Amino acid sequence: MRLQPAPVLGVVADDFTGATDVASMLVRAGMRTVQVIGVPEGAPPAGADAVVVALKSRTTPAADAVRESLAALQWLRGAGARQFYFKYCSTFDSTPQGNIGPVAEAMMDSLGTDFTIACPAFPENGRTIFRGHLFVGDQLLSDSGMRDHPLTPMTDANLVRVLQAQSRGKVGLLRYDTVRAGVEATRARIAALRADGVRLAVADTIDNDDLRTLAEACAELPLLTAGSGVALGLPALYARQGWLALDAQAAALDTVGGAAAVLSGSCSVATNAQVARWRDAGRPHLQIEPRALARGEPVVAQALQWARPLLASGPVLISATATPEALRAVQAELGVARAGELVEHALAGIASGLVAAGVRQLVVAGGETSGAVVQALGVRTLRIGPAICPGVPWTQADGRPLKLALKSGNFGGPDFFAEALTHEGGR
Ligand code: ADP
Repeated sequence: MRLQPAPVLGVVADDFTGATDVASMLVRAGMRTVQVIGVPEGAPPAGADAVVVALKSRTTPAADAVRESLAALQWLRGAGARQFYFKYCSTFDSTPQGNIGPVAEAMMDSLGTDFTIACPAFPENGRTIFRGHLFVGDQLLSDSGMRDHPLTPMTDANLVRVLQAQSRGKVGLLRYDTVRAGVEATRARIAALRADGVRLAVADTIDNDDLRTLAEACAELPLLTAGSGVALGLPALYARQGWLALDAQAAALDTVGGAAAVLSGSCSVATNAQVARWRDAGRPHLQIEPRALARGEPVVAQALQWARPLLASGPVLISATATPEALRAVQAELGVARAGELVEHALAGIASGLVAAGVRQLVVAGGETSGAVVQALGVRTLRIGPAICPGVPWTQADGRPLKLALKSGNFGGPDFFAEALTHEGGR
């Protein structure tokens, strides 16, 4: 029996793959979760314990990101959510202008709260935080591939410093020693930080137990800001409070069949390895070139012409994925924004063409890229299914026989594309 018809949790995510990542975390722990693309007109879909509003606000001007995030928050409040969550990337993707700080502070003001945490940790994917420093695997964030990101290069691993540079209020640190000491110690420290005028505290986190401690210690906060990790602890917490009944079938999707394809616009280290693995295995692969797009060549039509006859015999990969050197060269020539837009627009056009040609299972690599693809396909809601790997679930475009796996650039092992397409959830 449903105990609470309104969603318990309302999430505002700053990009599309980030939205599916946090939704996957909630579904895995038994919360029925729906992702909506942008702020919908009407009421939220029925029967969802959590609703995730996917925005494309990570790299837009801060004022636009704030406006859109507040509109999403307003809609989620209207839907009756009890707690709110601002989801950003586990590598804290942002620039000195934002948008993590400005959006977090605007949401705090709107909710009338003076404190929240900031915790991008995702230990299962190697993102841990110690003394305020974010690690990606064994490397500091600033030594990882993120230093070469096309849009949000991360050159400082000290998140207190990074967040302070983009925030008005005081940023503090919730140290590992405290989190490890448990829920009460963490609550006491939060009270002390608050008394000291800290508005945003970066929270050290090494493993899933720390994330659960943090979720419980923050149960009374109206707003959490985090990667997907903190969401891991929320479903059990809500169930204990009697706000919902956990559902073992939360990740069930329909069977869709049809042809399959992969599109990649991510240039991360992980995606470069995934594209190389696919190509080296002799699977069908086509590379598209931003310079050809800039020259106005019919790249989209050519790609579709290449793909159509191959689809009957198996999945194809079309990518713009480039190494850091190649990317820098093309960006110097075309400009960062223009190169990105050309590629996103082309991949979005190819996605539409592939679906028109019968593709029903589409894997997309790259956060911005996924945003462009989902918009081009006119998808409004995604039901969240089983995880292919931590952070990447299969999803189903509501009311349609179409499944999408939206992969944040940094996620997945080298065989991710093949694994996704043989995963039961994708059929
Ligand atoms: P990630 O999840 O790895 O950050 P995104 O899709 O969010 O991936 O961002 C990658 C950006 O790089 C997109 O804007 C994409 O259009 C752009 N891009 C991809 N390939 C190229 C390329 N060959 N040259 C220039 N820009 C590119």
